Amino acid sequence: MEDSPLVENFHVRTASERHFADPIQFWDETLRDGEQMPGVHFSPEEKLRIATVLSDVGVSVIDAGIPVVSPEEAAAVRRVVGAGLKAKILASARTVPGDVEAVIQSGASHIAIFVAASEVHLRYKLKMTQDQVLAASLASVRRAKDAGLHVAFVTEDTVRAPLDFVERLYKAVQSAGADRLVVSDTVGIMTPITFRWYLEEFERRVHPKDWSVHCHNDFGLAVANTLTACEVGVTAPHVCVNGLGERAGNASLEEVVVSLEALYGVATAIDTSRLFELSRLVEEVSGVPIPANKALVGYNSFSHEAGIHTHGVLAHTLTYEPLQPEVVGRHRQMILGKHTGKAALVEKLKERGVAATDPMLAELLRRVKESGEGRGKEQLRAFLDTYRSLFEHPGISDAEFWRMVDETGIHIEAQ
Ligand code: MN
Repeated sequence: MEDSPLVENFHVRTASERHFADPIQFWDETLRDGEQMPGVHFSPEEKLRIATVLSDVGVSVIDAGIPVVSPEEAAAVRRVVGAGLKAKILASARTVPGDVEAVIQSGASHIAIFVAASEVHLRYKLKMTQDQVLAASLASVRRAKDAGLHVAFVTEDTVRAPLDFVERLYKAVQSAGADRLVVSDTVGIMTPITFRWYLEEFERRVHPKDWSVHCHNDFGLAVANTLTACEVGVTAPHVCVNGLGERAGNASLEEVVVSLEALYGVATAIDTSRLFELSRLVEEVSGVPIPANKALVGYNSFSHEAGIHTHGVLAHTLTYEPLQPEVVGRHRQMILGKHTGKAALVEKLKERGVAATDPMLAELLRRVKESGEGRGKEQLRAFLDTYRSLFEHPGISDAEFWRMVDETGIHIEAQ
């Protein structure tokens, strides 16, 4: 018989269409965009804990926050900067002189200077013209360069802005010394094919020396779009642990890294075996639970219960596992319950060197299925009640807010 591979890999057929940067550097946004998620707050100590693991696993750049936000935030950035981590520490600033000075004061070696680019942001949020945005951007970039910082220039909502303005703005800041240009899909409206077209057009017009993308997950496409950007040759994609971030979040660090490694065979220099540990740490510190069915780090992503699947995985893991759980620091779990089949029981009995006759197995299976039905539902309902009340009403409640108004001495008068 001819020796054939166990599974076909058609990614090799499309390899010539991908132009990965070498190396791809990961720019982590967990401590800045991730923290902007409603209800999430990291203390300086917690930022340092997360930053330490991020650096240890091989992330290149860590956005530690926006120092001008508050004294605590500035302290957190200084704390992370002072830890002497291997990763480069970046802090963010609007194109406002005070913001840039706060980053310079923080001691961060890298700065991300951001301003909006789309017409809706300029007209309604910034109330600035394109020329004013350009002038403010140039002044901020020059100031940061004069202070010796590595400068990334970011526009919010890049992909909904007029391309001619984007070209003019990015070319100007690059000439003024910006080291890295960041294209943002701030509201997550790109799709892989359109984003590919967009980035190729951006590259053709702007010729970035070094570039990043910042993809949001409003339509569930952040990881797909970020992978597309890597395929086009973007050097430093933005990612967040567990896909944390504003609204539906950003591209997940673990999903982007492992997709590149496992699907395309790209060596990322990230220690993937610590990704689950990192994910659990961020879950704990952020208070945002990892969805049970989340790719790679979800509690179910390497669990099997259904008889057909368990049988397959026991015979050969490749049947229903595209990736060995150990790659991300996990183990597979065989769940006994309603959907269990005979093969799982035989395997389980082997653990203690026990064999059973067919009628005994049938009886055991009946008992396992019966006992598994509806198990844990009451506990889960109680958990869901708590979970919903926390996430449906995060932050300061209305009652608390009006009490603060009162305590502040603001008089509420009828209009
Ligand atoms: Mn963002």
